[in-house]
Amino acid sequence: MKKVTAADSLVTISHYKNLLESEGIPTFIKNEHLGSIVGEMPFQEVWPQLWVRNDLDLNRAIELLDQQKLADESPSEPWKCGQCDTENEGQFAACWNCGAISC
Ligand SMILES: [Zn+2]
Repeated sequence: MKKVTAADSLVTISHYKNLLESEGIPTFIKNEHLGSIVGEMPFQEVWPQLWVRNDLDLNRAIELLDQQKLADESPSEPWKCGQCDTENEGQFAACWNCGAISC
């Protein structure tokens, strides 16, 4: 068994677990119920952790999660400003040209 990743939220870890299991990789979560003692231990020790049951799945699991993390962080679609018609990158909430907020 190998640790794949840790995150500060069980929601994130569950999300990753579902992703890996949908790819046929058996996983389990450690520290699922330890949230309440955060503050008494180094917090990364008590973060929920995602582990693979099979050491051989580790590399593939890491790859899949890397792809997922990129997808999670990737900017949304470019958008066109309603006021000045400028094309804006998806990660900007306001128009770089006139400052209007996207809606
Ligand atoms: Zn604009």
